[in-house]
Amino acid sequence: MPRTRIHTKSKDRFKRSMRDIIRDLGRQVKVTYLIKKNECPNCYYDKATDSSTGKCKWRTPLEARTKQQEYEVSTGKVDLRYKFFKVGRCPICKNLGYLALYKKRWVKCLVNWDTDIDSNQAIYTQAGKSSASYVDLKTDPRHFELFLHCSGIEIDGVNCRMSSPPAMRGLGNQTLLLVRAISDVKLTKRSTEKLKDYI
Ligand SMILES: [Zn+2]
Repeated sequence: MPRTRIHTKSKDRFKRSMRDIIRDLGRQVKVTYLIKKNECPNCYYDKATDSSTGKCKWRTPLEARTKQQEYEVSTGKVDLRYKFFKVGRCPICKNLGYLALYKKRWVKCLVNWDTDIDSNQAIYTQAGKSSASYVDLKTDPRHFELFLHCSGIEIDGVNCRMSSPPAMRGLGNQTLLLVRAISDVKLTKRSTEKLKDYI
């Protein structure tokens, strides 16, 4: 046996202690993922481009209003699903052609805000954020698929997105799941801060 090989017992011990640390010191992070795409009820969907054709299903505003009233009466819901538009941007799906259904899940992670990225001086405070920041998460490898396909992550109340695919790390390569995300901050035009273009 080569001397560099790590004993299985050590790997197991390492794995267990890492999971204990995540359990004891981790914080709940909200992960959002897409579960369903329903075709927009208000416009014609284009399968070829996976987006809206920009054509309304209704010929008149009255027709759309009637559909909306029928929907509200039959379901008891009040969300806007039918609204007349001429040609262009569908007000219901914003021209996506579908209505996305998202689900949320809470995942325990070790959270590490990187507040010192070269000259960008990314700063995170409890009150909010003054510029884009990187954040590293360490969590259980069983969440790999969830992070791989997630559409957004909320960390400490800050909306983030993945900056690179999740990666397995640790002894034996299966101990930890590393997730690197970046805060989704849109700076106002008045801001004088200089920011690197991350996208
Ligand atoms: Zn639409």
